[in-house]
Amino acid sequence: MNVGFIGIGAMGKPMAQNLVTANYPLYIYDVNQPAVADMVAQGAIACNSPRELAQNCQVIILMLPNAAIVETTLTGEQGLLAGGQAGQTIIDMSSVASASTRRMAALAQVQQINYIDAPVSGGVTGAAAGTLTIMVGGETTAVQAVEPILKVLGKKIYHVGGIGAGDSIKVVNNLLLGINMAAVAEALVLGVKSGLDPQVMLEIIKESSGRSYALEAKTANFILKNNFAPGFAIDLEYKDLELAMETAKGLDMPLPLAAMAQQVFAMAKAKGLGREDISAVIKVWEELAGVQVRE
Ligand code: NAD
Repeated sequence: MNVGFIGIGAMGKPMAQNLVTANYPLYIYDVNQPAVADMVAQGAIACNSPRELAQNCQVIILMLPNAAIVETTLTGEQGLLAGGQAGQTIIDMSSVASASTRRMAALAQVQQINYIDAPVSGGVTGAAAGTLTIMVGGETTAVQAVEPILKVLGKKIYHVGGIGAGDSIKVVNNLLLGINMAAVAEALVLGVKSGLDPQVMLEIIKESSGRSYALEAKTANFILKNNFAPGFAIDLEYKDLELAMETAKGLDMPLPLAAMAQQVFAMAKAKGLGREDISAVIKVWEELAGVQVRE
């Protein structure tokens, strides 16, 4: 079965590599030519457009930055739908709004193309290890048909509900990640300002009630190593917090903590840190407090 992959970025590249290793003939498309060339050297086949890719593949995976890019990739003149074939399946693994996913699924359905939302959690490490958590929304038969492919990419695969349900839970998860990351940055800077050693803080809080994924995954490997290469970019988490805010507005629900966390990410973006890992929000607090947590 020919598989297509669009979006060979921080996440997409290791995911695509796992599909090549699993012996799927893999057709790829990305606007970043060096990323494409790298995958071709590893056995993937490059396409000149999403349209050409759709003409060659039964299953197509998207791992793109945001909904606007996903929508153009589908509906553009050289887009997937222009080359679409009845019976094929598009799996959008990007983190996007469920409303956009439902619009794209409806367009695909006109051409009898199956559409599934399957955003992920687990970061670049999980993508490389094939251990992502995958949150799936869509028709059961379409989801079951692509399960072997999802199992190459992830370890825990949850079929959450109908189309858009995977996107909805991903928004909830990343609301928590954003709040926790902003909180970790604030707390570690307070600790250093109080005279504590960052290593000691990490060791103790990891075993205490203040622990979180953001603390464990981002302190030792990113903050303390002064390494902010994404990872998961600040621009992308800002987008995910915006998705949470939009969702809440539609439901007439306040999200004060998410709003505050989003402003912390906005401060980091304003400092030019948008392409750095989310752990780089610590630089905002370090500057305000006049101390450095990083070594
Ligand atoms: P990234 O920016 O590293 O990669 C995106 C890729 O898409 C790049 O290679 C880029 O060149 C390509 N691209 C952009 N516009 C394109 C277009 N018009 N046509 C074709 N290719 C295009 O982003 P990432 O970190 O890999 O994240 C991808 C998605 O996964 C995002 O929606 C993100 O929110 C989500 N996500 C990321 C992580 C993470 O830890 N990085 C974790 C979970 C989910």
